Amino acid sequence: MFGSELLQPVATGAAMWSALLAAPFVGSFLGVMVRRLPEGLPITWSRSRCDWCGAALSASDLVPLYSWLAARGRCRYCSHSLGWFYPGIELAAIAVPLSAAIVDHGAGIWLDCLLGWWLLALAWIDIRRWLLPDPLTLPLVIVGLLATAVLDPAELTGHALGAAFGYLGLRAVGLLYQVLRGREGLGRGDAKLFAASGAWLGADALPQVVLGAAASALAAAAGLRLAGIRLGALSALPFGPFLALATWIVWLFGPFYI
Ligand SMILES: [Zn+2]
Repeated sequence: MFGSELLQPVATGAAMWSALLAAPFVGSFLGVMVRRLPEGLPITWSRSRCDWCGAALSASDLVPLYSWLAARGRCRYCSHSLGWFYPGIELAAIAVPLSAAIVDHGAGIWLDCLLGWWLLALAWIDIRRWLLPDPLTLPLVIVGLLATAVLDPAELTGHALGAAFGYLGLRAVGLLYQVLRGREGLGRGDAKLFAASGAWLGADALPQVVLGAAASALAAAAGLRLAGIRLGALSALPFGPFLALATWIVWLFGPFYI
């Protein structure tokens, strides 16, 4: 074990560095997707025009982070402020391989990043639009099962059950809430995202994901309250970002045994 670890640093480093180098570009692409997918607009590889003045953007306007910094966060053509959206999602996309590198150094980091970037897009869309689109949640279930079938076939049944339990579990909670409170508390999108958690992590990990998501949602609500932002019972937080975060943490560091 020790010997093979000593022999592999080159391949290992290549996987990690390539993921890190790709991350800001993936972040730019996720930014386009987060904005366009919920509108039903076609997804392009990158932005082609300024959102405000419509000026055609050249390659030099689209270098992740660098172009934004060089133009001090303004459009070079109309000097409209570009806001934090693109640099924000590009930085978040870099945080994915950085956090994955804590536990994974080999080629597996690319599978981690696939999941992490996918969850990042879903969480960001849910924050902006209160929506977890089917074209993102359903393929995530399938890819989770495929990855299990290829890499860990003995676990496939547990992961398929995880997808089923995940969906049915949150649907049951959502319906119960709807009956008791007369309004929707958990959307179908949350149930589909939880199904994806089950497909990637297996049925055993689901209680940890839902506990972690609920705990981080409560912490976020408390944090917003401390910051002076009051959340009424009706202006709840979207649950998707917390499910995504908990899925990511359990994927990297779990399952946790107490
Ligand atoms: Zn412009």
